[in-house]
Amino acid sequence: MANHLKLFTPGPGDVDEDVLASLASPVIRHYGPEWMEIYNDVQGMLKQVFKTKDEIYFVPGPASALMDMAIGSLLATGEKIIVGVNGFFGERLAHIANRYGLETILLKAAYGKALDPQALEILLKQHADAKVVALVHHETGTTVLNPLQELARVANQAGRIVVVDAVSSLGGTDVRMDEWGIDVCVTTPNKCLEAVPGIGFISVSPRTWQLVDSHPQANHGWYLDLKTWRQYVTEWASWHPTPVTLPTNVILATRTSLKKIIAMGLEAHFDKYRRASQAVRTGLHALGFEMFVENAFASPVVTGVCRRPEFELTDMSRWLVEQRGIAIGSGLGELSGQMFRVGHLAKAATREYLVDFLFAMEEFLRYTGIQIQPGAGLVGL
Ligand SMILES: *Cc1c(COP(=O)(O)O)cnc(C)c1O
Repeated sequence: MANHLKLFTPGPGDVDEDVLASLASPVIRHYGPEWMEIYNDVQGMLKQVFKTKDEIYFVPGPASALMDMAIGSLLATGEKIIVGVNGFFGERLAHIANRYGLETILLKAAYGKALDPQALEILLKQHADAKVVALVHHETGTTVLNPLQELARVANQAGRIVVVDAVSSLGGTDVRMDEWGIDVCVTTPNKCLEAVPGIGFISVSPRTWQLVDSHPQANHGWYLDLKTWRQYVTEWASWHPTPVTLPTNVILATRTSLKKIIAMGLEAHFDKYRRASQAVRTGLHALGFEMFVENAFASPVVTGVCRRPEFELTDMSRWLVEQRGIAIGSGLGELSGQMFRVGHLAKAATREYLVDFLFAMEEFLRYTGIQIQPGAGLVGL
């Protein structure tokens, strides 16, 4: 642990010690009465965070597997899907759709800009046969928070199914699955739920099942077929609600974290992220940085910051790691070298971490010869 870096990455984050301690619990069976109590407890808390009445399926794997599952289970090869693309993770959804041989219609926005509900409305009219709209809520690649509620409303009004990657938003900012008309919603514990990687959660609305059941030909294997997971929740509900062995300790750690989030209150948890992002935006602006995303669409979970001409971002990142033990996120794909990303997940939203990060940024600027008054970066705290 001596060399542990403080994580300001866009996920995973530095989680609390009691969450880590849960990982060291004795290994238990992923079935039977003892397990069902834990499973139902986590299921109930997740429903509160997803703001849904629908079942949440626990699928071991990374979030991308569950997005793959969602898109693959809903449509058959040759059918049409509309995919929102304004960053790295939107591109990934388009790749998934293409690999399934779907006719993929892109709702595009420039990197750093938000997806536009009016543009979606036009696409929906042009492609009345596209039954599904898939998009990312918080595009972690650019740090844009897409206007999910409006986008979902437009898609719902046109009678389409809305599939959402809420991996880096759920738990960190408001997501109302039922009220906003989100049909499929995916997340993982290792972002805003402040636990560790190893499992994904996916919730599915009743009208999505109608689509799935009307598509027996949308047959994409066994593990990543939503129907497999429904079958076990239905037929083995009382003692073994999943088709495979679960990473039980990961779920125990998730439970520990969820309990604290629920006890704190979701709104207070969102507020913690909001205040951290404000402190970072205000502080870095005072140090002469420009933000990558305008305030209206800026994410409270991760802040994107533009490069500046005085130094290379790779040199800055290396200095932060080597001199201050701080890890930040770099620009992904075409944004590499153009911007950096600062996560506000988990401990990165604490005052202790924020002071450490913002002061280290000042120190780096002074090291490169830029005149900065000591404490100038702390104005937003
Ligand atoms: C982190 C992230 C993912 C990828 O999650 P994996 O678990 O690595 O597959 C997908 N989408 C978004 C928006 C993310 O932030």
